[in-house]
Amino acid sequence: MRVASGMELTPRDGQTFRFDAGTLCLEFLLSGALAEWEQLHTPQDLAAWIPRTRLEVRGEVRVEPADLERARRLRAAIQAMAERAASATAPVVQAAEAKTLTEFAAAPPPVPVLGPAADRGWAYPMTAAQYLSAVARDAMEVFTGPLVERVRMCGGERCLLLFLDTSRPGSRRWCSMDRCGNRQKLRTRRDRNPA
Ligand SMILES: [Zn+2]
Repeated sequence: MRVASGMELTPRDGQTFRFDAGTLCLEFLLSGALAEWEQLHTPQDLAAWIPRTRLEVRGEVRVEPADLERARRLRAAIQAMAERAASATAPVVQAAEAKTLTEFAAAPPPVPVLGPAADRGWAYPMTAAQYLSAVARDAMEVFTGPLVERVRMCGGERCLLLFLDTSRPGSRRWCSMDRCGNRQKLRTRRDRNPA
């Protein structure tokens, strides 16, 4: 999958920060895999979500009413696998999830196109089924190969963000250095120099 630099998140404390989930399928969890963060309430929400993703969708997106429930179902499966991967619980992919990924990956994925200046883009309109197929194919890649050991949950207190650690040494611990990374630094400093 092509890499962009992540997504802006604004949690309840209002401190906006950039979070790079590292890969398409984990980025999809940000659409509200945890019920309190649900972003997909209507099919239109899904249509608005797809252009925000790392696929860099710049054209028309078509969403059918049934895509909303389908999107949530795929997302729930990815969340369950990601939690298991992050906590090294085997098997990461259970039979029901294997079936779900297979079902979604069976749809054709987005069609890549090259512009006259060799600029990469997609054929439009792109359908939600195409986007979900790309997400499912990415999830197959991530959860059934060596990358599965790079799926992590942020080490921050009460932070549940899941990401693929794409750093070369495999040492990424935080959703963002600007958020949980900094908090941990401050905490360590406080512990060392109690008031
Ligand atoms: Zn965090």
